[in-house]
Amino acid sequence: MASGTRAERVESRERNEKWKNPPFKIDMSICINCDTCLRHCPTQFGAIFNHGIDVIILPELCSGCEKCLPPVCPVDCIVPDPDWNPSPDDWWQHPFGPEDPYD
Ligand code: SF4
Ligand code: SF4
Repeated sequence: MASGTRAERVESRERNEKWKNPPFKIDMSICINCDTCLRHCPTQFGAIFNHGIDVIILPELCSGCEKCLPPVCPVDCIVPDPDWNPSPDDWWQHPFGPEDPYD
């Protein structure tokens, strides 16, 4: 199984097919870049990153655990993304990169 651990998900770029909830995404038109969600995403998922001026969720790493939702996010801008698209290549520089907050 290529998607059991975070490291395996990063390697395979695949979401764990056993996860029942869809991944979440951040509505950047509402997000105030407070980074609170980033600190509340469990390390075994480690899905939220600063990406330039944006805060992003890599859907392949997001289990849908909802730990980043309000009251963690003060503006309620993290929304389910059942029709998610694969993360672009440049998003994959963050997991296990030099500034990975979950590593
Ligand atoms: S739903 Fe859970 S895994 Fe997904 S970004 Fe939020 S805290 Fe992280
Ligand atoms: S907690 Fe909400 S407002 Fe703060 S960075 Fe995360 S998504 Fe943006």
